[in-house]
Amino acid sequence: MTQALTKLLLRPDFILVGGNNWKPIKNGELLVENDRILYVGPRRQYEGREIDREIEGKNKLIMPGLVNAHTHAAMTLFRGYADDMALMNWLEKKIWPAEARLTPEDIYWGTMLAIGEMIRGGITCFADMYFHMDMVAQACLESGIRAALSQGLIGLDKAKGAAGIIESKNIVSRWHGAGEGRITIMLGPHAPYTCPPQYLVEVMEVAADLDLPLHIHLAETRNEVKESLQKHNKRPVELMDSIGLFQHKVLAAHCVHLSQEEINILASKGVAIAHNPGSNLKLGSGIAPLADLLKEGALVALGTDGAASNNNLDILEELRLAALLAKGSQEDPSLIPAHQALDMATLNGVKSLFLEDGLGVLKTHSPADIIMLDLEKPHLNPLHELDAHLVYAAQSSDVEMVMVKGKILMEKRRLLTIDEERVFYEANTRATHLTY
Ligand SMILES: [Zn+2]
Repeated sequence: MTQALTKLLLRPDFILVGGNNWKPIKNGELLVENDRILYVGPRRQYEGREIDREIEGKNKLIMPGLVNAHTHAAMTLFRGYADDMALMNWLEKKIWPAEARLTPEDIYWGTMLAIGEMIRGGITCFADMYFHMDMVAQACLESGIRAALSQGLIGLDKAKGAAGIIESKNIVSRWHGAGEGRITIMLGPHAPYTCPPQYLVEVMEVAADLDLPLHIHLAETRNEVKESLQKHNKRPVELMDSIGLFQHKVLAAHCVHLSQEEINILASKGVAIAHNPGSNLKLGSGIAPLADLLKEGALVALGTDGAASNNNLDILEELRLAALLAKGSQEDPSLIPAHQALDMATLNGVKSLFLEDGLGVLKTHSPADIIMLDLEKPHLNPLHELDAHLVYAAQSSDVEMVMVKGKILMEKRRLLTIDEERVFYEANTRATHLTY
């Protein structure tokens, strides 16, 4: 484990503070005191004062940590197990039978593998929807990452649906605010097609009672829209709007197949959207209308989805895909400029998870969730525009240091809170038993 720091000074060549501001501060400095940023700005402010540790940052860049706004972390255990299949076929034939065999310990190790991968890619915070969430929370607590966790709820069977709600409430009482606020809980009704309207109303009542946000899959495939129209005579977003879901804080994953009317609903009701371009492409689900959503003022963050449908948890890759897909599919290279893509991966991410103000931007009093990238790489030189480099050229392996709440989780690409050798062993052994 890392030792607790009181005052840590970072002096990189470049600081990108984020929050709609991606113009670099050159030769700046950033001071972290305990878990917060005490100062960010021009250098020499703190020279000569008492500092516990200084991190020299020649050829380095620091910026806010990246946010993975939608994943199923423990699905790393199914990475590469079932590929090149249609969503429902993939779920019914491969994923759901394998998931039925998962033990709580499997979930713990699968989640640890995911967290290690995410930290290595500069992700300081993620939204997870899965089950045995006690184990997921435990992995987050130990690894030091920030997370918004939701137990996946399926309401097709009445008794199981009710049990899921009880379990969710228990998780809230055990984990909401744990790790000094690093871990928060959301309610996770899986999707409109697995949670009938009357069940969603029950979940919404709990959300209102406990003041919790909801995390749901929405309008992921063309088939979902078709079945919703057949069953309810409404498209998925219209259906969710008609039952009042959007009166609550909602994080909706995917939102691929939307009418203009539905885009307007999502934007005007302030629904947070997790755009998962890699997963949508790999499962052949389609391309979400990202530029249209942003044009209407919707809040859009980026997610990887689970590692069984991506197959990695790399937000820099999603960042590039999101920008390139919008440009290519609309035949307009001016869409999703680099600074807008970076906002999606940082500030929009923490907003989508309904986390405290100040996260997602490097400014005084913000929680110190910071990453440092090494610019001494062929693909990052010359240094014309750093925001463009991050979107179009950077690789997750360029991330050298990751800090969450003032605690360093990775330094010089070495994970400080995770025993990777053990994680690889456990994950590989368990994955073999799960996928026979
Ligand atoms: Zn998902």
